Amino acid sequence: MHTNSIIELSQSALEKNIAFLRKTFGKKVILSSVVKGNAYGHGLAEFVTMANDCGITHFSVFDVEEAKIVHTTLQDKVTIMVMGLVSDEDMEWVVTKGVEFFVFEKNRLNKAIKTAKILRKKAKIHVEIETGMNRTGFDKKELTSVIAILKKESEQLTFKGLCTHYAGAESIANYYRIDRQIKKFEEAYQYVCANNIKPEIKHSACSAASMMFPQTRMDLVRIGIMQYGLWPSPEVFVNYLNTKKSKIDPLNRVITWKSKIMNIKTVNAGEFIGYGNSFLAEKKMTIAVIPIGYSHGYSRSLSNQGRVLINGHRCVVVGSVNMNMMTVDITDIGNVKKEDEVILIGKQDEVSVSIASFSDLSNQLNYELLTRISKTIPRKIIE
Ligand SMILES: *Cc1c(COP(=O)(O)O)cnc(C)c1O
Repeated sequence: MHTNSIIELSQSALEKNIAFLRKTFGKKVILSSVVKGNAYGHGLAEFVTMANDCGITHFSVFDVEEAKIVHTTLQDKVTIMVMGLVSDEDMEWVVTKGVEFFVFEKNRLNKAIKTAKILRKKAKIHVEIETGMNRTGFDKKELTSVIAILKKESEQLTFKGLCTHYAGAESIANYYRIDRQIKKFEEAYQYVCANNIKPEIKHSACSAASMMFPQTRMDLVRIGIMQYGLWPSPEVFVNYLNTKKSKIDPLNRVITWKSKIMNIKTVNAGEFIGYGNSFLAEKKMTIAVIPIGYSHGYSRSLSNQGRVLINGHRCVVVGSVNMNMMTVDITDIGNVKKEDEVILIGKQDEVSVSIASFSDLSNQLNYELLTRISKTIPRKIIE
C-alpha cells in the first residue's frame, strides 16, 4: 500500500453525474458503466460498488481480470460485458458466469460455441462490426458466414448484441469518418435483420458519440469518462453548452487525490533544487517536500510544471518529479507546517486543481492521467 496519499471518491458527485446522464439519454437506453483501466484509475471494486448504489446494473470492462473483480464485488446482481479480450483459458469462466462478451473474429466465435457445448450453457455474445476504426470487428465480407454460424449454432449462443466503436467522436475533425461509420453500422444491422436473425440490442456510443451524435445512443450507451465527471474533450463540452441556456457544467469530479507535507526546507539564492540543474533558486525560497512521485502516477512530465494546493494556494512543482517525492514552492504562503494537507487533484477552500489543467500542463489526455494513478493508493468513499 502507498499510504503516503489517499484517494477520496465522492458518492454525491457520482449520483449527480448519473442523474444527468439518465436524464440526457432517457429511460429506454441502458446505461452501461465503463470501468476498464481500474475504473479510469478510481479503483475498480470501490467504484462499481458506488455505481451500483446509484442503480447501475450494467458494467463494461476490457478483459476477464477486470470482469472477475466486478463479479467478486457485486456477484450476480449485475450484467458484465467484456469489450476486449477473452483468452481461451478464460472462456469457461465467462460462459459459466453468464458474462457477456464481444466477438470480433472467427476463432473466438468457434471457441465460444465449443465451450458452450461442453458446459451445456449458452454463451452470450455481442457481435462487433468493423465500421472504420480498423482495430477489431467483422468485415462486411465475413458477415454472411458469421450469420450462418449464428443460425446453425443458436442452441449454443445467445445473440445479445450487435455493436461497433467509433474512431474519435470527441473531435469535430473526425466528423465525416464517424458519420460514415454510423451509416456502415446501420447497413450491417439491416443486413443481419434481413437474414432473419436479430440481436437483442444494438449499441455503439461512448461518451463523446452519445453527446455529439445522439442517433448513436440506440439501445445502450457505454459511458466511461463522463460518469467520472469529466468531458471527453473541450469540444464536446462546448458543443453541449451551445445547446443550453445555463452555462453550468452538469458534471462533477468524483476523485480527489491528497497527501501531506513531509518536510520543509529553506533554500538560498543560487542553489539548485533536486536532481541535476533543472531548477535554480533565484532568491531565497521555502520548499515543501511531498511524498508523491512518478511511481504513484504523478507524471515526471509535470516537473517544473505541476500545481498542487496547500493552505488554499496554488503552489508550483520546482525541480523534477522523482520516483517517490517532489518539491513545491511555498515561499509566498505563510504559516505552512509539516503534515499540512496537499491536494494533487481536487479542491481546497475555493481553489481547485482540475484534471484538465493538469493534463494541459503535461500534454496527457485526462484518460491517460487518471489511469496512471497507482492501484495501491488507498481509496475511500466519502459522502
Ligand atoms: C473505453 C470505451 C468506451 C467508453 O469511452 P468513454 O469515452 O470513456 O465514454 C466505450 N466503448 C468502448 C469499446 C471502449 O473501449
